Amino acid sequence: MGNIISINDVKKIYVMGSEKIYAVNGISLDIKQGEICCLLGKSGSGKSTLLNLISGLEKPSKGQIVFKGKHIETMDEIQLASFRQQYIGFVFQQYNLLPTLTAAENVALPLIFKKIPPKERMERAMDMLKAVGLEDRAGHKPNQMSGGQQQRVSIARAFINNPEVVFADEPTGNLDTKTTYEMMDLILDLSEKNNQTIIMVTHDLEISGYADRIIHLHDGKIDNIEDNKNKILKGSFREV
Ligand code: ADP
Ligand code: MG
Repeated sequence: MGNIISINDVKKIYVMGSEKIYAVNGISLDIKQGEICCLLGKSGSGKSTLLNLISGLEKPSKGQIVFKGKHIETMDEIQLASFRQQYIGFVFQQYNLLPTLTAAENVALPLIFKKIPPKERMERAMDMLKAVGLEDRAGHKPNQMSGGQQQRVSIARAFINNPEVVFADEPTGNLDTKTTYEMMDLILDLSEKNNQTIIMVTHDLEISGYADRIIHLHDGKIDNIEDNKNKILKGSFREV
């Protein structure tokens, strides 16, 4: 399969007073369409910064990022926003749901920007809530749901547009072990249906076991790239 993303000698340098921080320090990487790719490294190794660069949330200080044949490092904010809406879904550690909206309204949110009429938005949101096993919580606000339920809502929101790539930054960082496995199963299950590419960030070796490929990061650089031969399969977690 072809590459959906190619990054070439990318750097992100933060200037703090007289100090320069090389958060990402010369990374080149190709990501294949449909692969589950994990960025693994200790806190501060540059995982989130790299994810934010690849997904167009931040601009690189140097280097090129080609996403579906387009150079995103040269895009302006308006072009980037529309590019993200078209191709990308996000799952965050803190869920990032809007507190005043219901589960269904949160899930439907990305469709507003696509100018899809309200009735269809709600139908599609309900379908997604069903897919993540939350159809009976559609009217609940985020603070009326558990962490695992909130992350299900955010996963439903990430996938509702059928994006080509879903980015997940420590998606299970706030969840217990059982819920963690449920979330990973869910992400794999949804992505398998449409051969979506998943790029996830974790500091947890166990979670990286779900990936096809593990990119080990250290001090803003790639330490090594591992083809994961012992990939964890869906539904592997059993309570003992
Ligand atoms: P990780 O996600 O692996 O924990 P980050 O990508 O968040 O690592 O951070 C990598 C390095 O860059 C860290 O040393 C961090 O302190 C620094 N850093 C990240 N974001 C900023 C910022 N906005 N300004 C200054 N330094 C930053
Ligand atoms: Mg991080």
